[in-house]
Amino acid sequence: MKCIICKLGETQLGTTTVTLKRDNVTLVVKNVLAEVCEDCGEYYLSDEVSKKVMTIAEQTLNFTKASMP
Ligand SMILES: [Zn+2]
Repeated sequence: MKCIICKLGETQLGTTTVTLKRDNVTLVVKNVLAEVCEDCGEYYLSDEVSKKVMTIAEQTLNFTKASMP
């Protein structure tokens, strides 16, 4: 598909690194399947992949909270 951000590049199926920030936690999820713009590098996650990333984030944040005093 055509990139929405730069309106020049075409997206290609690949992987990206997603960074999520919440409270005091920065979570980096690597090798996430995504459509990546060959021009500006913007990435687009499918609904399915977004949900999986959010699930990983929730689990990690719960673990972080549980392990803190
Ligand atoms: Zn682009």
